Amino acid sequence: MTETAPVISVRDLVVEYGRGEKKVRALDGISFNVMPGECVGFIGANGAGKTTTIKVLMGFIFPRKGDVRVFGERAGTVASRRRIGYLPEVALYYPFMKARELLELYGGLSGLSRGNLKEGIPPLLEKVGLVGKSEILLKNYSKGMQQRLGIAQAIIADPEALIFDELSSGLDPIGRFDLRAVLLNLKRRGRTIFFSSHELTEVEALCDRVIIIHKGRIVTEATVGELKKPLNLFEVVFSLPEGAVLPTVVAQYKLVEEGNLQRIEFNNVEEYCRAVSALASAGAVIHHTSSRTRTLEEYFIGLVESIEGVGDK
Ligand code: ATP
Repeated sequence: MTETAPVISVRDLVVEYGRGEKKVRALDGISFNVMPGECVGFIGANGAGKTTTIKVLMGFIFPRKGDVRVFGERAGTVASRRRIGYLPEVALYYPFMKARELLELYGGLSGLSRGNLKEGIPPLLEKVGLVGKSEILLKNYSKGMQQRLGIAQAIIADPEALIFDELSSGLDPIGRFDLRAVLLNLKRRGRTIFFSSHELTEVEALCDRVIIIHKGRIVTEATVGELKKPLNLFEVVFSLPEGAVLPTVVAQYKLVEEGNLQRIEFNNVEEYCRAVSALASAGAVIHHTSSRTRTLEEYFIGLVESIEGVGDK
């Protein structure tokens, strides 16, 4: 494999569940790559097809059509899975085991020696925020603690690539903060990360690139910067004294009346500057100007609404 070969390569993937009238096409010909060292967020509404995609990558279900490769190997083969750490959407661990025992089991299956495990488990538990919890039975673990443990089992053997389904599920804000530090550290060390999440602030903070899936089809694939770039919002709030005329350059924009003030929004900094300068020259009183970038969440909701034709009815 050359250095530029993708770690994950999905081509024309079609997955169907059920048969006959009950048949559900969960993935309808999706294609994407994840390159070495990239951190890619996989976003979609409930039922979009995220877990199905990840299950194919892990070899848990088989596609109707398509070519899916991990490290150049067919997805699901031992050769491909050996190099991946995986966190399932719902992680159910043996309730009669303690965290240390579970990590010894998973680490052992990944080929780590007893010595490695003895040395490696305490700092690993510390990393995921489970200090002092190694000897508690897993049946007494909370959902958030299970998730932290799931992340620990995924990274225990320091794999080259990580696939997380619902990364921050069940985690409180502190858990998410800890998790972010763990992931940023993995990223810094050149690990490839692919994860699905509903926490878009997380995706925004961690990912180089985002893939958005909707009803089994990929609708957007771009860097976080690209998605947010056209979403800059600039606004000016002003009033026109009696006798002052609204400059023509400003008249083309939608004016929103707010009491005796007026507000205009711009998506483009040049247009915004031109308008503010024209307003000032026309004698307008500028009460307030501001600029902000829309969040990825706003972008996502807007995109889904536009696809679904919300408000078009
Ligand atoms: P969520 O965010 O809710 O976890 P998702 O994006 O992971 O959703 P999937 O679980 O991949 O979505 O589901 C994709 C589609 O496939 C949905 O329509 C779902 O109902 C359907 N589906 C998933 N698993 C099965 C199954 N075992 N049998 C039948 N249909 C299924």
